[in-house]
Amino acid sequence: MEQVIIIGAGQAGLSTAYYLKRHGIDPLILDANASFGGSWVQAWDSLKLFSPKEYSSLSGYGMPTTIDEYPNRQEVIDYFGKYEQRYQFRIHRPVKVLDVKKLDGVYQIKTDKGDFGAQSLVSATGNFSGKVMPNFEGIEKFNGIQVHSSEYKNNTLFKGLNVAIIGSGNSGSQVLAEVSKVAKTHWFTNKPLQYLDDDLDGRYLFELSTKRYYAGLNNEVIGETDEFSKIVMTDSVKEARNRGVLKREENIQEFTKNSLITKNKNIPLDAIIWCTGFETKLDHLNGLNLKQDVKTLSDGPHSTDHTNLWYVGYGEWSGYASATIVGVQKHAKQTAKQITEYLHS
Ligand code: FAD
Repeated sequence: MEQVIIIGAGQAGLSTAYYLKRHGIDPLILDANASFGGSWVQAWDSLKLFSPKEYSSLSGYGMPTTIDEYPNRQEVIDYFGKYEQRYQFRIHRPVKVLDVKKLDGVYQIKTDKGDFGAQSLVSATGNFSGKVMPNFEGIEKFNGIQVHSSEYKNNTLFKGLNVAIIGSGNSGSQVLAEVSKVAKTHWFTNKPLQYLDDDLDGRYLFELSTKRYYAGLNNEVIGETDEFSKIVMTDSVKEARNRGVLKREENIQEFTKNSLITKNKNIPLDAIIWCTGFETKLDHLNGLNLKQDVKTLSDGPHSTDHTNLWYVGYGEWSGYASATIVGVQKHAKQTAKQITEYLHS
Protein backbone atom coordinates (compact mmCIF):
# COMPACT_ATOMS: atom_id res chain seq x y z
CA MET A 1 0.00 0.00 0.00
CA GLU A 2 1.40 3.40 -1.04
CA GLN A 3 0.88 6.57 1.00
CA VAL A 4 0.46 8.62 -2.20
CA ILE A 5 0.10 7.71 -5.85
CA ILE A 6 0.39 10.42 -8.49
CA ILE A 7 -1.06 9.63 -11.92
CA GLY A 8 1.00 11.45 -14.56
CA ALA A 9 4.65 12.50 -14.70
CA GLY A 10 4.31 15.77 -16.61
CA GLN A 11 5.21 19.10 -15.00
CA ALA A 12 2.21 18.88 -12.62
CA GLY A 13 3.06 15.39 -11.35
CA LEU A 14 6.76 16.21 -10.94
CA SER A 15 6.08 19.44 -9.10
CA THR A 16 3.72 17.67 -6.67
CA ALA A 17 6.29 14.92 -6.10
CA TYR A 18 8.96 17.55 -5.37
CA TYR A 19 6.90 19.20 -2.63
CA LEU A 20 5.79 15.85 -1.17
CA LYS A 21 9.44 14.82 -0.84
CA ARG A 22 10.10 18.03 1.07
CA HIS A 23 7.47 16.82 3.53
CA GLY A 24 9.28 13.47 3.80
CA ILE A 25 6.77 11.60 1.61
CA ASP A 26 8.03 9.55 -1.33
CA PRO A 27 5.10 9.18 -3.75
CA LEU A 28 4.82 6.54 -6.46
CA ILE A 29 4.20 8.08 -9.89
CA LEU A 30 2.45 6.09 -12.62
CA ASP A 31 2.92 7.46 -16.12
CA ALA A 32 1.46 6.19 -19.39
CA ASN A 33 4.30 7.53 -21.53
CA ALA A 34 7.29 5.34 -22.36
CA SER A 35 9.72 8.13 -21.46
CA PHE A 36 10.00 11.44 -19.57
CA GLY A 37 8.64 14.79 -20.75
CA GLY A 38 4.84 14.54 -20.29
CA SER A 39 2.85 15.92 -23.22
CA TRP A 40 5.87 17.86 -24.49
CA VAL A 41 6.93 14.56 -26.08
CA GLN A 42 3.88 14.70 -28.38
CA ALA A 43 4.15 18.43 -29.15
CA TRP A 44 5.16 19.54 -32.65
CA ASP A 45 8.88 19.53 -33.47
CA SER A 46 9.40 23.30 -33.70
CA LEU A 47 7.41 24.28 -30.57
CA LYS A 48 9.18 26.72 -28.28
CA LEU A 49 8.15 28.11 -24.92
CA PHE A 50 6.85 31.66 -24.68
CA SER A 51 9.20 32.60 -21.85
CA PRO A 52 12.91 32.29 -21.12
CA LYS A 53 14.15 29.49 -18.86
CA GLU A 54 13.94 31.62 -15.70
CA TYR A 55 10.17 31.70 -16.22
CA SER A 56 9.93 28.07 -17.32
CA SER A 57 11.48 26.17 -14.43
CA LEU A 58 10.12 23.98 -11.66
CA SER A 59 11.09 24.54 -8.03
CA GLY A 60 14.48 23.54 -6.70
CA TYR A 61 16.39 22.84 -9.86
CA GLY A 62 16.16 25.37 -12.69
CA MET A 63 16.28 24.66 -16.40
CA PRO A 64 19.91 24.58 -17.65
CA THR A 65 21.09 27.15 -20.21
CA THR A 66 19.22 26.91 -23.50
CA ILE A 67 20.45 27.55 -27.05
CA ASP A 68 18.05 30.42 -27.72
CA GLU A 69 16.27 32.78 -25.38
CA TYR A 70 13.14 30.58 -25.55
CA PRO A 71 13.60 26.89 -24.65
CA ASN A 72 12.68 24.48 -27.42
CA ARG A 73 10.57 21.35 -27.06
CA GLN A 74 13.56 19.00 -26.72
CA GLU A 75 15.17 21.21 -24.08
CA VAL A 76 11.96 21.08 -22.02
CA ILE A 77 11.80 17.28 -22.35
CA ASP A 78 15.46 16.89 -21.36
CA TYR A 79 14.97 19.24 -18.42
CA PHE A 80 12.08 17.17 -17.05
CA GLY A 81 14.24 14.04 -17.47
CA LYS A 82 17.06 15.61 -15.45
CA TYR A 83 14.59 16.88 -12.86
CA GLU A 84 13.25 13.36 -12.27
CA GLN A 85 16.77 12.00 -11.88
CA ARG A 86 17.95 14.76 -9.57
CA TYR A 87 15.15 14.09 -7.08
CA GLN A 88 15.16 10.30 -7.59
CA PHE A 89 11.41 10.12 -8.02
CA ARG A 90 9.91 6.63 -8.11
CA ILE A 91 8.25 6.52 -11.52
CA HIS A 92 6.76 3.42 -13.12
CA ARG A 93 6.32 3.75 -16.90
CA PRO A 94 4.78 2.98 -19.20
CA VAL A 95 1.87 2.27 -16.85
CA LYS A 96 -1.57 3.42 -17.91
CA VAL A 97 -4.20 3.82 -15.20
CA LEU A 98 -7.40 2.28 -16.50
CA ASP A 99 -9.73 2.82 -13.57
CA VAL A 100 -9.83 3.77 -9.90
CA LYS A 101 -12.23 2.57 -7.23
CA LYS A 102 -12.42 3.41 -3.57
CA LEU A 103 -12.89 0.75 -0.90
CA ASP A 104 -12.99 1.64 2.81
CA GLY A 105 -11.36 5.00 2.06
CA VAL A 106 -8.46 3.42 0.14
CA TYR A 107 -7.89 3.74 -3.62
CA GLN A 108 -7.71 0.57 -5.73
CA ILE A 109 -5.90 1.59 -8.88
CA LYS A 110 -6.26 -0.70 -11.89
CA THR A 111 -3.55 -0.34 -14.56
CA ASP A 112 -2.39 -2.18 -17.66
CA LYS A 113 0.51 -3.47 -15.53
CA GLY A 114 -1.40 -4.71 -12.50
CA ASP A 115 -3.15 -3.20 -9.50
CA PHE A 116 -1.92 -0.70 -6.90
CA GLY A 117 -3.35 0.58 -3.60
CA ALA A 118 -2.99 4.09 -2.18
CA GLN A 119 -4.12 6.03 0.87
CA SER A 120 -4.29 9.24 -1.16
CA LEU A 121 -4.36 10.02 -4.86
CA VAL A 122 -3.25 12.87 -7.12
CA SER A 123 -4.56 13.03 -10.66
CA ALA A 124 -2.09 14.98 -12.83
CA THR A 125 -2.87 13.64 -16.29
CA GLY A 126 -3.14 16.99 -18.13
CA ASN A 127 -5.63 17.91 -20.84
CA PHE A 128 -3.71 16.60 -23.82
CA SER A 129 -5.98 13.60 -24.43
CA GLY A 130 -9.13 15.78 -24.42
CA LYS A 131 -9.05 17.06 -28.00
CA VAL A 132 -11.76 19.59 -28.82
CA MET A 133 -12.97 19.40 -32.44
CA PRO A 134 -16.14 21.46 -32.97
CA ASN A 135 -18.87 20.09 -35.16
CA PHE A 136 -19.55 21.72 -38.53
CA GLU A 137 -22.29 21.03 -41.05
CA GLY A 138 -21.16 18.27 -43.45
CA ILE A 139 -17.87 17.51 -41.67
CA GLU A 140 -18.67 13.78 -41.76
CA LYS A 141 -18.56 13.94 -45.57
CA PHE A 142 -15.04 15.38 -45.73
CA ASN A 143 -12.65 12.63 -46.83
CA GLY A 144 -9.31 14.46 -46.69
CA ILE A 145 -6.68 14.47 -43.94
CA GLN A 146 -7.73 15.66 -40.47
CA VAL A 147 -5.32 16.16 -37.57
CA HIS A 148 -5.66 17.91 -34.24
CA SER A 149 -2.81 20.18 -33.10
CA SER A 150 -1.94 17.51 -30.52
CA GLU A 151 -1.08 15.15 -33.41
CA TYR A 152 0.63 17.73 -35.64
CA LYS A 153 4.41 17.17 -35.91
CA ASN A 154 5.66 19.30 -38.83
CA ASN A 155 4.60 20.50 -42.28
CA THR A 156 5.92 17.55 -44.33
CA LEU A 157 2.53 15.85 -44.69
CA PHE A 158 0.94 19.03 -46.07
CA LYS A 159 3.36 19.92 -48.87
CA GLY A 160 1.49 21.25 -51.92
CA LEU A 161 -1.97 20.76 -50.35
CA ASN A 162 -4.92 23.06 -49.70
CA VAL A 163 -5.13 23.21 -45.93
CA ALA A 164 -7.67 24.74 -43.54
CA ILE A 165 -6.27 25.76 -40.16
CA ILE A 166 -9.15 26.10 -37.69
CA GLY A 167 -8.53 27.97 -34.44
CA SER A 168 -7.29 31.41 -33.48
CA GLY A 169 -4.97 30.77 -30.56
CA ASN A 170 -1.25 30.28 -30.27
CA SER A 171 -1.46 26.76 -31.71
CA GLY A 172 -3.43 28.02 -34.71
CA SER A 173 -1.05 30.89 -35.47
CA GLN A 174 2.12 28.83 -35.02
CA VAL A 175 0.87 25.88 -37.08
CA LEU A 176 -0.36 28.27 -39.78
CA ALA A 177 3.04 29.99 -39.84
CA GLU A 178 4.77 26.68 -40.49
CA VAL A 179 2.31 24.99 -42.86
CA SER A 180 1.89 28.12 -45.01
CA LYS A 181 5.53 27.76 -46.06
CA VAL A 182 4.68 24.61 -48.06
CA ALA A 183 0.91 24.68 -48.61
CA LYS A 184 -1.97 26.94 -49.59
CA THR A 185 -3.49 27.76 -46.22
CA HIS A 186 -6.86 29.18 -45.16
CA TRP A 187 -7.31 30.36 -41.58
CA PHE A 188 -10.70 30.14 -39.87
CA THR A 189 -11.35 31.55 -36.44
CA ASN A 190 -14.54 32.05 -34.48
CA LYS A 191 -13.48 35.49 -33.31
CA PRO A 192 -11.46 38.41 -34.65
CA LEU A 193 -7.69 37.97 -34.45
CA GLN A 194 -5.94 39.77 -31.63
CA TYR A 195 -2.19 39.94 -31.16
CA LEU A 196 0.02 40.89 -28.23
CA ASP A 197 2.50 43.67 -28.93
CA ASP A 198 5.65 42.44 -30.66
CA ASP A 199 7.89 43.12 -27.68
CA LEU A 200 5.76 41.16 -25.18
CA ASP A 201 6.12 37.47 -24.38
CA GLY A 202 5.16 34.96 -21.69
CA ARG A 203 6.90 37.08 -19.06
CA TYR A 204 4.32 39.78 -19.51
CA LEU A 205 1.46 37.27 -19.23
CA PHE A 206 3.07 35.71 -16.16
CA GLU A 207 3.43 39.11 -14.46
CA LEU A 208 -0.12 40.10 -15.37
CA SER A 209 -1.42 36.79 -14.10
CA THR A 210 0.50 37.11 -10.81
CA LYS A 211 -0.81 40.66 -10.30
CA ARG A 212 -4.38 39.48 -10.86
CA TYR A 213 -3.92 36.47 -8.59
CA TYR A 214 -2.78 38.62 -5.66
CA ALA A 215 -5.42 41.26 -6.35
CA GLY A 216 -8.01 38.45 -6.14
CA LEU A 217 -6.57 37.24 -2.82
CA ASN A 218 -6.84 40.79 -1.46
CA ASN A 219 -10.44 41.06 -2.67
CA GLU A 220 -9.55 43.94 -4.98
CA VAL A 221 -11.91 44.50 -7.90
CA ILE A 222 -10.23 43.24 -11.08
CA GLY A 223 -11.85 43.93 -14.42
CA GLU A 224 -12.00 41.45 -17.27
CA THR A 225 -9.00 41.26 -19.59
CA ASP A 226 -8.58 39.70 -23.02
CA GLU A 227 -4.79 39.83 -22.87
CA PHE A 228 -4.50 36.07 -22.20
CA SER A 229 -6.40 35.15 -25.34
CA LYS A 230 -4.20 37.28 -27.59
CA ILE A 231 -1.68 35.59 -29.86
CA VAL A 232 1.94 35.79 -28.72
CA MET A 233 4.13 37.15 -31.51
CA THR A 234 6.80 34.46 -31.65
CA ASP A 235 9.49 34.77 -34.33
CA SER A 236 7.63 32.28 -36.53
CA VAL A 237 4.36 34.24 -36.29
CA LYS A 238 6.13 37.53 -37.04
CA GLU A 239 7.72 35.92 -40.08
CA ALA A 240 4.30 34.67 -41.25
CA ARG A 241 2.94 38.20 -40.84
CA ASN A 242 5.75 39.49 -43.09
CA ARG A 243 4.67 36.98 -45.74
CA GLY A 244 1.11 38.27 -45.47
CA VAL A 245 -0.47 34.92 -44.54
CA LEU A 246 -2.04 35.92 -41.22
CA LYS A 247 -5.43 36.46 -42.81
CA ARG A 248 -8.74 35.31 -41.45
CA GLU A 249 -11.30 33.92 -43.92
CA GLU A 250 -15.04 34.44 -43.57
CA ASN A 251 -16.94 31.92 -41.44
CA ILE A 252 -17.35 28.31 -42.53
CA GLN A 253 -20.88 27.34 -43.55
CA GLU A 254 -20.32 23.69 -44.40
CA PHE A 255 -17.90 21.04 -45.60
CA THR A 256 -18.26 18.75 -48.63
CA LYS A 257 -16.14 15.68 -49.33
CA ASN A 258 -13.31 17.80 -50.76
CA SER A 259 -14.10 21.44 -50.10
CA LEU A 260 -15.30 24.01 -47.65
CA ILE A 261 -18.06 26.49 -48.31
CA THR A 262 -18.31 30.03 -46.96
CA LYS A 263 -20.86 32.72 -47.82
CA ASN A 264 -18.94 33.81 -50.92
CA LYS A 265 -16.47 31.04 -51.67
CA ASN A 266 -16.08 27.34 -52.38
CA ILE A 267 -12.56 26.49 -51.24
CA PRO A 268 -10.99 23.20 -52.43
CA LEU A 269 -9.57 21.35 -49.48
CA ASP A 270 -7.19 18.42 -48.93
CA ALA A 271 -6.60 18.71 -45.20
CA ILE A 272 -7.85 20.24 -41.96
CA ILE A 273 -5.69 20.99 -38.93
CA TRP A 274 -7.85 21.51 -35.84
CA CYS A 275 -6.17 24.00 -33.50
CA THR A 276 -9.27 24.14 -31.37
CA GLY A 277 -7.85 23.33 -27.98
CA PHE A 278 -8.41 20.83 -25.22
CA GLU A 279 -10.83 19.94 -22.46
CA THR A 280 -10.33 17.87 -19.32
CA LYS A 281 -11.04 14.14 -19.65
CA LEU A 282 -10.93 12.05 -16.49
CA ASP A 283 -11.91 8.64 -17.87
CA HIS A 284 -9.29 6.96 -15.69
CA LEU A 285 -11.37 8.00 -12.64
CA ASN A 286 -14.71 6.66 -13.94
CA GLY A 287 -14.99 4.22 -11.03
CA LEU A 288 -15.24 7.17 -8.62
CA ASN A 289 -18.51 8.35 -10.24
CA LEU A 290 -17.34 11.96 -10.37
CA LYS A 291 -19.65 14.88 -11.13
CA GLN A 292 -19.88 15.66 -14.85
CA ASP A 293 -19.02 19.35 -14.61
CA VAL A 294 -15.29 19.56 -13.85
CA LYS A 295 -15.72 23.09 -12.48
CA THR A 296 -17.54 21.61 -9.49
CA LEU A 297 -15.03 18.83 -8.81
CA SER A 298 -12.64 20.73 -6.62
CA ASP A 299 -11.83 23.75 -4.56
CA GLY A 300 -8.43 24.62 -6.02
CA PRO A 301 -6.72 21.26 -6.45
CA HIS A 302 -8.56 19.54 -3.57
CA SER A 303 -11.55 17.35 -4.45
CA THR A 304 -14.85 18.54 -3.04
CA ASP A 305 -16.10 14.90 -2.83
CA HIS A 306 -13.12 12.91 -1.61
CA THR A 307 -10.92 14.12 1.26
CA ASN A 308 -7.93 12.14 -0.10
CA LEU A 309 -8.09 13.10 -3.80
CA TRP A 310 -6.38 16.04 -5.58
CA TYR A 311 -6.34 17.34 -9.18
CA VAL A 312 -3.19 19.20 -10.18
CA GLY A 313 -2.39 21.09 -13.39
CA TYR A 314 -5.64 21.10 -15.37
CA GLY A 315 -5.93 24.87 -15.74
CA GLU A 316 -8.31 27.34 -14.15
CA TRP A 317 -10.81 24.87 -12.63
CA SER A 318 -8.12 23.09 -10.60
CA GLY A 319 -6.01 26.15 -9.82
CA TYR A 320 -5.31 29.56 -11.27
CA ALA A 321 -2.74 29.32 -14.13
CA SER A 322 -2.04 25.70 -13.12
CA ALA A 323 -1.50 24.52 -16.72
CA THR A 324 1.82 26.34 -16.94
CA ILE A 325 5.20 25.30 -15.59
CA VAL A 326 5.49 28.29 -13.29
CA GLY A 327 1.82 28.48 -12.36
CA VAL A 328 1.43 24.85 -11.29
CA GLN A 329 3.91 25.12 -8.45
CA LYS A 330 1.82 26.94 -5.89
CA HIS A 331 -0.97 24.40 -6.40
CA ALA A 332 1.48 21.48 -6.15
CA LYS A 333 2.84 22.99 -2.94
CA GLN A 334 -0.65 23.40 -1.49
CA THR A 335 -1.51 19.83 -2.50
CA ALA A 336 1.58 18.40 -0.80
CA LYS A 337 0.75 20.30 2.40
CA GLN A 338 -2.85 19.08 2.40
CA ILE A 339 -1.81 15.48 1.71
CA THR A 340 0.68 15.60 4.58
CA GLU A 341 -2.02 16.90 6.91
CA TYR A 342 -4.40 14.17 5.71
CA LEU A 343 -1.86 11.38 6.24
CA HIS A 344 -1.03 12.64 9.72
CA SER A 345 -4.64 13.22 10.79
P1 FAD B 1 1.02 16.63 -19.30
O1 FAD B 1 2.27 17.30 -19.69
O2 FAD B 1 0.03 16.29 -20.36
O3 FAD B 1 1.44 15.29 -18.51
C1 FAD B 1 0.48 14.34 -18.12
C2 FAD B 1 1.14 12.97 -18.03
O4 FAD B 1 0.13 12.09 -17.55
C3 FAD B 1 1.62 12.44 -19.36
O5 FAD B 1 2.95 11.96 -19.23
C4 FAD B 1 0.65 11.30 -19.67
O6 FAD B 1 1.25 10.20 -20.32
C5 FAD B 1 0.20 10.89 -18.28
N1 FAD B 1 -1.13 10.24 -18.27
C6 FAD B 1 -2.27 10.69 -18.84
N2 FAD B 1 -3.27 9.81 -18.63
C7 FAD B 1 -2.75 8.81 -17.89
C8 FAD B 1 -3.26 7.60 -17.36
N3 FAD B 1 -4.55 7.24 -17.51
N4 FAD B 1 -2.43 6.78 -16.65
C9 FAD B 1 -1.14 7.12 -16.46
N5 FAD B 1 -0.60 8.26 -16.97
C10 FAD B 1 -1.38 9.09 -17.67
N6 FAD B 1 3.22 25.99 -20.67
C11 FAD B 1 4.18 26.80 -20.14
O7 FAD B 1 4.38 26.78 -18.92
N7 FAD B 1 4.91 27.65 -20.92
C12 FAD B 1 4.73 27.72 -22.27
O8 FAD B 1 5.40 28.48 -22.95
C13 FAD B 1 3.73 26.87 -22.85
N8 FAD B 1 3.52 26.89 -24.19
C14 FAD B 1 2.57 26.10 -24.71
C15 FAD B 1 2.32 26.17 -26.09
C16 FAD B 1 1.35 25.39 -26.67
C17 FAD B 1 1.07 25.53 -28.15
C18 FAD B 1 0.61 24.47 -25.87
C19 FAD B 1 -0.46 23.59 -26.48
C20 FAD B 1 0.84 24.39 -24.49
C21 FAD B 1 1.80 25.21 -23.90
N9 FAD B 1 2.03 25.18 -22.54
C22 FAD B 1 2.99 26.01 -22.00
C23 FAD B 1 1.19 24.35 -21.62
C24 FAD B 1 1.77 22.99 -21.38
O9 FAD B 1 2.17 22.35 -22.54
C25 FAD B 1 0.75 22.03 -20.77
O10 FAD B 1 -0.21 22.74 -20.09
C26 FAD B 1 1.44 21.05 -19.85
O11 FAD B 1 2.13 20.07 -20.61
C27 FAD B 1 0.53 20.39 -18.86
O12 FAD B 1 1.33 19.65 -17.96
P2 FAD B 1 0.70 18.49 -17.11
O13 FAD B 1 1.76 17.92 -16.26
O14 FAD B 1 -0.54 18.97 -16.43
O15 FAD B 1 0.20 17.43 -18.20
